[in-house]
Amino acid sequence: MAIYKAAKLLSRSFSSLSSRPLRVCVVGSGPAGFYTAEKMLKAHEEAEVDILDRLPMPFGLVRSGVAPDHPETKIVTNQFTRVAQNERCSFFGNVSLGSSVSLSELRDMYHVVVLAYGAESDRVLGISGEELAGIHSAREFVWWYNGHPDCSNMAPDLKSVDTAVILGQGNVTLDIARVLLRPTTELAKTDIASHALSALEESSIRKVYLVGRRGPVQAACTAKELREVLGIKDLYVHIDEDDLRTTPADEEELKNNRIRRRIHELLSKAAISGTSHPSPGQREIHFVFFRKPDKFIGSDERSGHVAGVRLEKTILKESVHPGKQAAEGTGQYEDLECGLVLKSIGYKSVLVDGLPFDLQKGVVPNYRGRVLSCASEDLAQVEEGLYVCGWLKRGPTGIIATNLYCAEETEHPHLPWQSQAGRQGLQQLLDSRNVRAVPFSAWEKIDNEEKQRASLRSKPREKLTRWEELLEVAAK
Ligand code: NAP
Repeated sequence: MAIYKAAKLLSRSFSSLSSRPLRVCVVGSGPAGFYTAEKMLKAHEEAEVDILDRLPMPFGLVRSGVAPDHPETKIVTNQFTRVAQNERCSFFGNVSLGSSVSLSELRDMYHVVVLAYGAESDRVLGISGEELAGIHSAREFVWWYNGHPDCSNMAPDLKSVDTAVILGQGNVTLDIARVLLRPTTELAKTDIASHALSALEESSIRKVYLVGRRGPVQAACTAKELREVLGIKDLYVHIDEDDLRTTPADEEELKNNRIRRRIHELLSKAAISGTSHPSPGQREIHFVFFRKPDKFIGSDERSGHVAGVRLEKTILKESVHPGKQAAEGTGQYEDLECGLVLKSIGYKSVLVDGLPFDLQKGVVPNYRGRVLSCASEDLAQVEEGLYVCGWLKRGPTGIIATNLYCAEETEHPHLPWQSQAGRQGLQQLLDSRNVRAVPFSAWEKIDNEEKQRASLRSKPREKLTRWEELLEVAAK
């Protein structure tokens, strides 16, 4: 392959670069961005790394995506803070790629631009009724309970409904199910946004359905997260035992995958333990398999609001991908009543001007992180000095640590570089546009304020969730 050879010739380990200053810009301050910055700083003592983020605070998915009851996952921010405090590293919060500065401007100012801004949009189902009120993407809901300033006004209705349906059975689904079903006294000790905690304290949601288009063998979650949901205090768990029967094709999948076997065991155990009916007022979780959403049903009483989901029963068929079975509709339908729907079917990256994108795969076309000019392997050229890392590079899958390997894999060029404007050029450009960048020291003011506010409530942090407030505290 031509690209492979070209990339091999141009690339070599970053550690062997000469001692000339190298201006690096990393866009996105989540795990992929910080691991990349750390790698750059360690590998070359002359590298100057600027990390841009459209939010006034760093850490991306660690702050806005990781569930509030998973504090151990957030410890990695200590490591990222040390990276940001390195004298050769600068953080530019409140700087948006596309509106504050364009990709071509960044490429003119820096030798290396690494895009690590993740996946901030949602896959859609494309079925009738998807626009009804009461239907949200999982991302919006997660951002809401994590205090992301873009979703602090979301106000999902948890008060006038008793049933929620979550479509998809990945780990994000399990995070949301825990937040909806865990006792709020437990959530109160976390860094959950206070607006979300208040709404959950008043929530009337008692039943949560997790709907998967395939079977228990294919559920996309992991064992630790499943155990946590099944272990929620005083929760009635319903799993249809018939769904747990496996076919030879399922057995083949199980044989090759220890995680899938563990999930199947946990679900099988949960299906036969516990009571056969919920006790009055008990919260319930229902695992629904072999059902795909066909359309959303509008309410007669509340015009424009969702009242249910029509599901089509599915069977599994061998797919084009060997060893992977696909769900196929059977033409049999059933309706599931609900007042809240959360579509947890995966995230999607947002495009920026001048960046090639493979719409089919939902990633920037790349060879080991080097951006290619188009998705077609035969026609693609390597885009000099432009790289991707994280979800933008490989799609919205994997845990935080996956980004460490992803950053490691990204190859960097050995090119004779010209002197570039770098940090100074960026600052001048932002000043000329009246963009008020938030440096890391200003984030530390936000951080202190959040911790101080939390000290009165025995929680780790009370997040500031509004743009004005965040910028105001940052500017103090
Ligand atoms: P995911 O793991 O890809 O799960 C997506 C789910 O949506 C799957 O069940 C998938 O079913 C289903 N789906 C996709 N398209 C659908 C459609 N058109 N109709 C019906 N169902 C559809 O994605 P995720 O849950 O958003 O998680 C993203 C990544 O973050 C994952 O790698 C996850 O492990 C990670 N994460 C980890 C943690 C943690 O470690 N605690 C927490 C949150 C997220 P199919 O399998 O049939 O496609």
